Amino acid sequence: MKDKPGTDSRREGLILILSAPSGTGKTTLISRLLALFPDITLSVSYTTRAPRADEVPGRDYHFVSRAQFARMRAAGEFAEWAKVHDFFYGTPRRLLDRAVRSGRDVLLDIDVQGAKQIKKRYPGAAVSVFLAPPSWPELRRRLAARGTDDRQVIARRMANAKREIEAIVGYDYCVVNREVKTALAQLAAIIRAERLKVGRVLRWRIGPLRGALKR
Ligand code: 5GP
Repeated sequence: MKDKPGTDSRREGLILILSAPSGTGKTTLISRLLALFPDITLSVSYTTRAPRADEVPGRDYHFVSRAQFARMRAAGEFAEWAKVHDFFYGTPRRLLDRAVRSGRDVLLDIDVQGAKQIKKRYPGAAVSVFLAPPSWPELRRRLAARGTDDRQVIARRMANAKREIEAIVGYDYCVVNREVKTALAQLAAIIRAERLKVGRVLRWRIGPLRGALKR
């Protein structure tokens, strides 16, 4: 039987986690990555923060009230959730479970707390990548160049970034975003290699393979 577009029944789906301090260039990289791999689905998180001017509900986030978020959390609808900068964020569980089963690859743009929970919950399927800025002065320059954040916000984001980078040891890969083209090529290499991992293919095909090996 032919696979549905974006799925691969010969292996389980890959959960690609991408975390980065703000100002690292993650948004640009994600849109370039999705253009390069149209078969990867971006998971849309739930959040209690208000939409920004350029954000579209359902595309960037599902924007919900605190009460609704709490209800969903209590009902076990999140694969992970975390409080980031005073707001709650959560990854819907159903999409992930289905994707892993059907060989569909999903990209999660989540913070370090969420990455830890997903790695624990999906130890075989999840692969985590930490996107790091080239240097502290460069990160400060990028944050200031946005022009929208005042000095206090920049200082807070710098402090957050320093804390987040300490969590790098729990990640599988680190990509330094010095230049988008290079970072994109490195991410693509990670995805292509991870798709071929013996464990990922075997977990799915263990039945037929066992038969073949006996003969
Ligand atoms: P922002 O509000 O700027 O879009 O995102 C703030 C931070 O929350 C980013 O680091 C982003 O990766 C993280 N984030 C977005 N969605 C989720 C989620 O569902 N779970 C977790 N743990 N973090 C998330």
